[in-house]
Amino acid sequence: MKYYSTNKKVSGVSLQDAVVKGLAEDKGLFMPDVIKALPQSFFDNIENMTFQEMSYVVADAFFGEDVEAEALKKIVYDTLSFDVPLVHVTDNIYSLELYHGPTLAFKDVGGRFMSRLLGYFIQKQGEKDVKVLVATSGDTGSAVANGFLGVEGIHVYVLYPKGLVSPIQECQFTTLGQNITSIEVEGTFDDCQALVKSAFMDAELNAKMKLTSANSINVARFLPQAFYYFYAYAQLKKLGKADQMVVCVPSGNFGNITAGLFGKRMGLPVKRFIAANNRNDIFLQYIRTGEYSPRPSVATIANAMDVGDPSNFARVLDLYGASHSDIAAEIAAVSYTDEQISDTLRSCKAETSYLLDPHGACGYQALKEGLHVGEVGVFLETAHPAKFLETVENIIGEKVEIPAKLQEFMKGTKQSTPMTKDFASFKGYLMGV
Ligand SMILES: *Cc1c(COP(=O)(O)O)cnc(C)c1O
Repeated sequence: MKYYSTNKKVSGVSLQDAVVKGLAEDKGLFMPDVIKALPQSFFDNIENMTFQEMSYVVADAFFGEDVEAEALKKIVYDTLSFDVPLVHVTDNIYSLELYHGPTLAFKDVGGRFMSRLLGYFIQKQGEKDVKVLVATSGDTGSAVANGFLGVEGIHVYVLYPKGLVSPIQECQFTTLGQNITSIEVEGTFDDCQALVKSAFMDAELNAKMKLTSANSINVARFLPQAFYYFYAYAQLKKLGKADQMVVCVPSGNFGNITAGLFGKRMGLPVKRFIAANNRNDIFLQYIRTGEYSPRPSVATIANAMDVGDPSNFARVLDLYGASHSDIAAEIAAVSYTDEQISDTLRSCKAETSYLLDPHGACGYQALKEGLHVGEVGVFLETAHPAKFLETVENIIGEKVEIPAKLQEFMKGTKQSTPMTKDFASFKGYLMGV
């Protein structure tokens, strides 16, 4: 499969190059030349397949030409070694819990898949010492670090803003050791990102070492997110409720929902999508007006969706040939304030005893308000509520149980390297490792 850039100045790129580069040279996002439709027989039988089996079929459609079958199968099976249950919440509303992986959020799927695919290519090339640089505002660092933990030939450097990630998020990447190094930057997330970008552009550094990125726009991180849409459908079908499936996705950079749109292009019977946003409602404004007007993000209690210029919007436009009416016909949009998110979380807990996290709360509320007669809604529960412990406990006025996996991280010893935000010191550090 070849990949082209959404900016259309780059095409014919191999999967390997697309994965190693992350972003195209014209600054666009990579898209596969073809999105293969899966045969009807696959959908007829999907409810009898395991999550891993059906995901391998999906992965094969994208990556099968470029990765040997056995290796791809191992990558898929290895990535999906945790459950993604569909839980009935109320009426026609189901929660697809994507938070049973190592760091309790859906980014585990993309993080793990990408790490293994990159590991595969690096081994094939005979590279021995590849450095992955990743800047994080909290969640990405943990998913990428845990995905790459123990992967041979790769060392990961996680750059994060000192004092600006929650203690729970911090311990998920600073306690790992092995091939993971955490760098605590005296600055903001933007400073961390600037350091990473400068490193990629620095000729001297790149001559000395092999650097690559692990950001969320990488095709290897983004496409595997299609897997669980198929699994949601299969589980609903088993219940005899899949005829008018509506999927609601709490969205920030729009990578997750775009993977669902790819699933639909492959033939997955999703009637329509809803993108649920917090107050950062750039997509809602686009749906309403046809104008895409990015603006600086505002901080909310659903902070993983605090995005003012969603990077995958370029992929959405590309998929629909930039037709606003086609996009609006398939994707509805909503936006909720912190107060509405809190009210939803509290009332859902009181009425159904189901505990949402602030992101999932946006998804749940959108279905409560937006489902039409006969439709069945699935919202993606993107993170475990304990990842936002203080916020959730304050809202419901009760203690939240912390899963054992999270407690393990909290027991570990924090190890991090302090760094100023000026590039010379970061470069000096990298030259010395
Ligand atoms: C990253 C994230 C999102 C947003 O996903 P996108 O793919 O960026 O749209 C939503 N919820 C949680 C918990 C996240 O970590």
